[in-house]
Amino acid sequence: MEELLFGTAGTPISSNGTDSLSGIKRVHELGLGCMELEFVRGVKMREDTARKVRVLAKKLYIGLSVHAPYYINLNSEGETLQKSRERILNSARIGHICGAGSVVIHAGFIQKNSRHDAYEKIKNELIQIREQMDSESINIALRIETMGRISQFGNLDEVLDITEVTGILPCIDFSHLHALYGKNNSREEFSDILTNIETKLGRNGLDNMHIHVSGIEYTSKGEKKHLEFEASDFKYKELAQSFLEFNIKGIVICESPNLEIDALKLKKEFEDSTV
Ligand SMILES: [Zn+2]
Repeated sequence: MEELLFGTAGTPISSNGTDSLSGIKRVHELGLGCMELEFVRGVKMREDTARKVRVLAKKLYIGLSVHAPYYINLNSEGETLQKSRERILNSARIGHICGAGSVVIHAGFIQKNSRHDAYEKIKNELIQIREQMDSESINIALRIETMGRISQFGNLDEVLDITEVTGILPCIDFSHLHALYGKNNSREEFSDILTNIETKLGRNGLDNMHIHVSGIEYTSKGEKKHLEFEASDFKYKELAQSFLEFNIKGIVICESPNLEIDALKLKKEFEDSTV
């Protein structure tokens, strides 16, 4: 991508309606550049709506991504696995019609097996899902998100390593990374993360980022809930400076409860930063 876009996780709170079309219009009015379509409770958008979304987003130059349903666990068997595959594929199918560039996925849980076994299982599932997508000519990136709890698949190494599967890219949720052990909340640590991405994915990785960020509350077990920046200890100003320092491009989605307020705050911080 040519620039770094800032936007909201779903329709902004100040939109006229709660639907995606109202959301895209409002994102544009606010001077933001992107929006994530939240399919987190199921892929309910119909194809005709998806086509309208595509036309409007293109007209207003709003970048789109999709968040797949929360109820996904690729490290499972039977019906849970079958439904997880379908939820990812349906997110990709509708997202593709919307013109979205990425589908963000919470890949699964570690459960009883080792992290290594979970990795191999999830990797094999993703290879098969990509094969199915290729057979349907669905050209959209699947992004595995860094997660905020130890019991979940998706620490930074796992998320970067699994890009060995063609068509898989990372979604870096900086607030989740911070919620793990309370670390990753300084210029130095943000730099380490971005350096790690560049080492594993090359400059391309930094030129095509997908980022989630919000204030966050956490315990020793990790993420508890999302907060507004000002209600949390998350150092979003330092993060914005790191974005500028590494000259990253792509999409930044704000997941704070006040959505557009914090998205605009982060955007302003980025624009006002000097290296
Ligand atoms: Zn997520």
